[in-house]
Amino acid sequence: MKTIGLIGGMSWESTREYYRILNEEVRNRLGDPHSCKCILYSVDFAEIEELQHRGAWEELTSRMISIAVKLESAGAEMLLICTNTMHAMADRVQASIKIPLIHIADTVAEEIKNRGMRKVGLLGTRFTMEQDFYRLRLKEKSGIDVIIPDKDDREHVHSIIYKELIAGIIKKKSKDIYLKVIQKLVSNGAEGVILGCTEIPLLITGVDTDIPLFDTTLLHARKAVGLALKKE
Ligand code: GLU
Repeated sequence: MKTIGLIGGMSWESTREYYRILNEEVRNRLGDPHSCKCILYSVDFAEIEELQHRGAWEELTSRMISIAVKLESAGAEMLLICTNTMHAMADRVQASIKIPLIHIADTVAEEIKNRGMRKVGLLGTRFTMEQDFYRLRLKEKSGIDVIIPDKDDREHVHSIIYKELIAGIIKKKSKDIYLKVIQKLVSNGAEGVILGCTEIPLLITGVDTDIPLFDTTLLHARKAVGLALKKE
């Protein structure tokens, strides 16, 4: 089994989901008492959130590169960035290390294609929904069209992530807001919706709607286990 390096703490509410899924997947595939070999570097999210909202992406990129290099020298054999948003600098992080970075958007693209879909909706932070790094990658690498909510809905989705989900607060009212936004995306032609923020699955799951949802936390963690256990 290969050792998975995790850049986490963005937020720890979702990183603990990664840790749980990684271990459950290894146990399911290899049996008890197997568990996942991994190394976690967990940040103080207050610093990250402040830099993101100030638009200090260069500083964030240097921090991510420095953590990735530390994980590689600590023995990680592949890297997961446990947040969609912080894939904004994924290419520069990958260029700074020799181990493979398992890109969250590529993982979700694989699942979308397996399910025969071509057009999906995307929910996430404002950065993930509005910047190019996520939507363009899905389009250019996998030919998937991505639609996003309108400006007001994007603001609601974004603020629920930062004000509630990251703090571990789950509200029925917010779930209803998300379900309405998901429904609107489908009315605009989406065949399914990417839960493109690793905390969203804490609020919404397949139990809440019949619309196909892509849980990036689950797909990303599962993909890593598949690669870690792959026979060379
Ligand atoms: N975990 C979230 C994501 O997947 C948001 C936190 C962050 O900004 O990194 O995008």
